[in-house]
Order: sequence, then structure tokens, then C-alpha cells
Amino acid sequence: MSDLYAVFGNPIAHSKSPSIHAAFAAATGQDLRYEARLAPVDGFAASVREFVTHGGKGANVTVPFKEEAFRLSGKLSERAARAGAVNTLSFRDGEIVGDNTDGAGLVRDITHNLAYPLAGKRILLLGAGGAARGVIAPLLAEAPAALFIANRTADKAQALAEAFADLAAVDAGNFAKIAGQRFDVAINATSASLSGQALPLPADLFAPDSLAYDMMYGQGDTPFLGQARQQGAGRLADGLGMLVEQAAEAFFVWRGVRPATGPLLADLRRQLAG
Ligand code: NDP
Repeated sequence: MSDLYAVFGNPIAHSKSPSIHAAFAAATGQDLRYEARLAPVDGFAASVREFVTHGGKGANVTVPFKEEAFRLSGKLSERAARAGAVNTLSFRDGEIVGDNTDGAGLVRDITHNLAYPLAGKRILLLGAGGAARGVIAPLLAEAPAALFIANRTADKAQALAEAFADLAAVDAGNFAKIAGQRFDVAINATSASLSGQALPLPADLFAPDSLAYDMMYGQGDTPFLGQARQQGAGRLADGLGMLVEQAAEAFFVWRGVRPATGPLLADLRRQLAG
């Protein structure tokens, strides 16, 4: 029987993870099945336990369960402990092991797929929610010249900067505090694009060869990428590559095999363009 994996979320119907992992399995010759599972908002732990009872080997976790998956894990990888959230569960020897591959996925998409090195760059991270928290340590590991966390609620950005202060000096504040500063990379980790809202970004934020990266993806420019284009950002990228790369990293955690992502990413990009 094929090994069984799943992604848990609510909602989950539109998840691309089953088709991404099916493509990885086919390309690497791994014998596995991967399903989308809708967990009730108040029933995540019970859904995961039932899945384990039925032979599940591992699972991805998406909105709104990443923090709950963190608490459910009996053991955590270092990067999951840092992120305070789990997107990848492995069920081994009766134990639930939590990992977080979001940050690795973002960094690989930027440095490998987009061929944009982060070392020595000034990075602006917009947002201070779960997605922002998950990518801070992997971004700092690339040795940027500076990292600034800007958030609508300044206190949350400040708290994040303090939580990672042992790794590097991180600046933080609200959007007004970045006025007059220039960045090489600006990463949108807010959920503002989801509701079609633009961020109150000051002018002249983007250095000439800068990269504007939105963790959200879709057809055409997101509101953030539209703003960045208007402000003269040199390159624009959405989060489709991050999605595929975090999945590849999860596949590697489970199977010890790293699938190629280029062809699949190109396929998904074509589908998205319709
Ligand atoms: P959270 O709910 O944890 O955080 C939301 C963040 O967005 C907060 O910082 C919040 O600010 C800010 N925000 C929300 N609305 C606005 C607004 N109108 N103006 C300014 N700031 C706003 O969400 P997550 O961190 O879990 O997710 C953030 C985004 O990242 C989502 O769009 C998600 O889809 C995407 N994502 C993409 C991934 C990928 O693989 N491509 C992986 C993970 C996430 P405040 O603190 O002031 O409320």
C-alpha cells in the first residue's frame, strides 16, 4: 500500500498541495498518496490523530491550524521552535514531530529560482503575523545587511524583533517609521493583499535593483506588487514559488528526496495565467 500523506486546513478545497505532491511523487518515483483533509475549526487535533490511526505518515498544515500544530507536536525542529508554528508534521514511532518549511521555501525561491542573493542586502519585512515570524530566522541566516519589520500594529513588530535579537539586530516599527529609508528587498507577509487592500507605504522605498516579493499569489499583480511597480521596484515576484518550495522541502523531510521544482512551477504559472 502507498504511504499516506495529507494537508489539513479550513477551508481546504482549493489547496494546490495534493497536485504538487502528486507531481513530486511521480517525478521521483516515490510511492505515496496525498489528500486534502478539511478539519473542523475546533477539531484539528482529533482529525490528525484519526489520520495517524489510519496509517498517515505525515501531513502539511495550513490556515488556521499552524499554531495548533505547533502545540500538538511532541518534538519540534529548531526552525519550527523559532517560528512558533508548524506546517509539516511527521508521524514516527508513535511521536508527532513538527517542522516548518515556509522560511526555507521563501529563501530558496528568492535565492535560487529568482537568483537574487540576500547576503549584504537591506530587507524590509511587511507584517508581523505567523507568516512573517516563520521567515525571520531563515532570512537572517542569509546574512543580510539589515532587516526591518514594519507592521500596522507597531508593538507586534517590536515583539518579533526582540524575539530574534539573539540572532541579529532587527529594527521594527509601523509603516511611517520606514519613511526616508530604501530597501533592496521588500517582502509582503501581511494578509492585506487577500482583501485587495493596499498598504500605506511611504514613497521611494525601493532601491533601483530592488526585489518586491508578495507571499500571496494570483493572476496578475497583487495590490502590493502594483504599488511596488508604480514605485519603480526593479523586480516583482509573487508567492507561488514559495508555495512550491515549501512543499519540496516538506517532501524532502518526509522522503529524504529533493524533487526538482522548476518544471512544476512553470506548469502552475501557466495554469494561473489561464
Ligand atoms: P496573520 O493573520 O497571522 O497576520 C496578518 C498580518 O497582516 C498582520 O501583520 C496584520 O497586521 C497584517 N494586515 C492584515 N490586514 C492588513 C491591512 N489591511 N493593512 C496592513 N496590514 C494588514 O496571517 P499570516 O501571517 O498567516 O499570513 C499572511 C499572508 O501570507 C497571507 O496572505 C498568506 O496567504 C500568505 N502566506 C503565503 C505562503 C506561501 O507559501 N506563498 C505561506 C504562508 C503564508 P496587524 O498585526 O496590524 O493586524
